[in-house]
Amino acid sequence: MREIETDYLVVGAGASGMAFADTLVAHSDAEVVLVDRRHRPGGHWLDAYPFVRLHQPSAYYGVESRPLGHDRVDDRGPNAGFYERAGADEISDYYSRVLEESLLPTGRVLFVGMSEHRGASVDGHLVVSLLDGSETIVRARRKVVDATYVQSEIPSRHVPSFTADESVTLIAPNGLVDLAAPAHRFTVIGAGKTAIDTCVWLLEHGVDPDHIRWIRGRDPWQFDRAFTQPLDRVGSYMRLQAAWVDAAAAAADGPDFARRLEDTGIFLRIDPAVEPLAFRGATVSRREIDALRTIEQVVRARRVRAVGPTALTTDAGEFPGGRGEVYVDCTAAGVPASAPRPVFEPGRITIQYVGVGFLPWCAATIGFVESTGLDDEEKNRLCPPVVFTGDVTDLPRLAYAGIRGQVARVRHETVGPWSAASRLNPARGALDRIDDVNVAESLAFMITHTGEALENLKRTVTAADDRRRP
Ligand SMILES: Cc1cc2nc3c(=O)[nH]c(=O)nc-3n(C[C@H](O)[C@H](O)[C@H](O)COP(=O)(O)OP(=O)(O)OC[C@H]3O[C@@H](n4cnc5c(N)ncnc54)[C@H](O)[C@@H]3O)c2cc1C
Repeated sequence: MREIETDYLVVGAGASGMAFADTLVAHSDAEVVLVDRRHRPGGHWLDAYPFVRLHQPSAYYGVESRPLGHDRVDDRGPNAGFYERAGADEISDYYSRVLEESLLPTGRVLFVGMSEHRGASVDGHLVVSLLDGSETIVRARRKVVDATYVQSEIPSRHVPSFTADESVTLIAPNGLVDLAAPAHRFTVIGAGKTAIDTCVWLLEHGVDPDHIRWIRGRDPWQFDRAFTQPLDRVGSYMRLQAAWVDAAAAAADGPDFARRLEDTGIFLRIDPAVEPLAFRGATVSRREIDALRTIEQVVRARRVRAVGPTALTTDAGEFPGGRGEVYVDCTAAGVPASAPRPVFEPGRITIQYVGVGFLPWCAATIGFVESTGLDDEEKNRLCPPVVFTGDVTDLPRLAYAGIRGQVARVRHETVGPWSAASRLNPARGALDRIDDVNVAESLAFMITHTGEALENLKRTVTAADDRRRP
C-alpha cells in the first residue's frame, strides 16, 4: 500500500479546496495533498450545463493568486453593463491552470485525482483509486480539510425525487443542447438558480414564453446583480453592504429583513404578487427578471410526485402533459443546507461559508486565517459559519454570523489588511475610491450603524431561538 505524508490533506478540489489550498500555500510553508474523485480540479463546474455562468463577476471568483477573465464589462445580452461572468469551460480551464501553473510548481502540492477519501483510522486517511481500487494511506501532520461540506448538487449528477414514465422526455438542462426533436412545450421543474438560468436561456433562444411552463413552488429572493459589481463600480457593492446593515439594524424577522432590502432595490422577486419564501444568496439582473415575467404558465406546486405519459402529478394536483413535452429537471439543491459545525477543530478544518455568499472568498479567508497560526478559538472567532438553510426566516441568523465575522476580520491586525487587498474580496479597492460618493457614504453609514445592526440581530435571533424551544 502506498503511503504519503503531508501537512494538510484537502478532500475535494472544487472551488472550495482550490481557493483554500492556493491561499494557504502562498502564505505558509505548508505541504498539501489534494484528493478528488474527479480527474481534475474544478468540482461541479466540470459537469455543469453548457450555458451555466457564474452568478457573480469573474473578477472576484476563483483563487487568490490568479485572475479569472479580463475584468471586461459586457455590452450585450442579459449581463449587459455588468462585469463579465465566466462560463463552465472557462472556469474548468482556469482551475486546471491554477493546478498546473501555480500550485504544482511550488513543489509543495500533490493532486491525487480519480480517488476517493474513504475515512480515517489510527494509521491515517484511506484514499482509494476509482480506476484500479488501489489504496493509499495519507497521514496529515497538521489537519485534514473537508472541502466537500458545502458541495454543490447539480442536475446532471442528481437523481430527482419524483418518478418519470419511460415514455416521457425528462432531461437535465445539459440535455437542452442535444434534443432529439423540437419540443411543443418545455416544463421547467424547480424554483432556484438553475431553473432561472434555464428559462432565461430558452427565452434568449427565441422560445415563445407561452411554450414554457414553470413549476415553481417557492419563489426566491435574489440580489440585484447591479449591486454586486466590483472594481470601478465597487460603490454599488458598498451600497449593498450599507443597505444590508440598515435592514439588519431594524428588521423584526427574516421576511421583514427581506422586504426592507427590496425597498432599497437590493432584493428582487420574480412575481410582484408573490412574496418569496426562499433565499440562497443568488443574483439576477433586472433584465432577466423582466424576461422571466413573460412566462405566464406558472404552477405553484412545491413537489412534483410523478411525470406520467399524459399528466404531471404534484402536491398541488394534476396538470396535463403530453406528447412533445420536454421536462427539464432543475430540482437539484445547488447549495444544499448543511448543519453548522466549527470551521476549526483539532486536526480538522471544515470549509464553509463565512460570509454571505462568494464561496471562494470564504475558503481563501479560512486558508489565510489558518496560515496565521492562531489558536482554534481565535480562528473560530474570526470565522463564524454562515449557514444557508434556503429559508427566508433564517436571514437574521445568517446576517448575524456574517457581520460578526466580517467585523472581527476587518479589525484583526493581519487578517484585515490581507482581506482588504485580496482579489477575491468583492469590496477590494473600495478605500482607494473614497471620492466615489457611494463608497464614502456607505462606509460612513456602516461605521455608525454596524453596532446597532449586531444588537438588533442578536435580539432577533435570541427571540427566534426562544420561540423554537419546546
Ligand atoms: C450553477 C451554479 C452557479 C454558481 N455560481 C456561484 C457564484 O457565482 N459564486 C459563488 O460564490 N458560488 C457559486 N455557486 C456555488 C458553488 O457551489 C461554488 O461556487 C463552488 O463551485 C462549489 O465548490 P465546492 O468546492 O464547495 O463544491 P464542488 O464543486 O461540489 O466540489 C467538491 C469536490 O469534492 C469532491 N469529493 C466529494 N466527496 C469526495 C470524497 N469522499 N473523496 C474525494 N473527493 C470528493 C467532488 O468530486 C468535487 O470535485 C454556484 C453553484 C452552482 C450550482
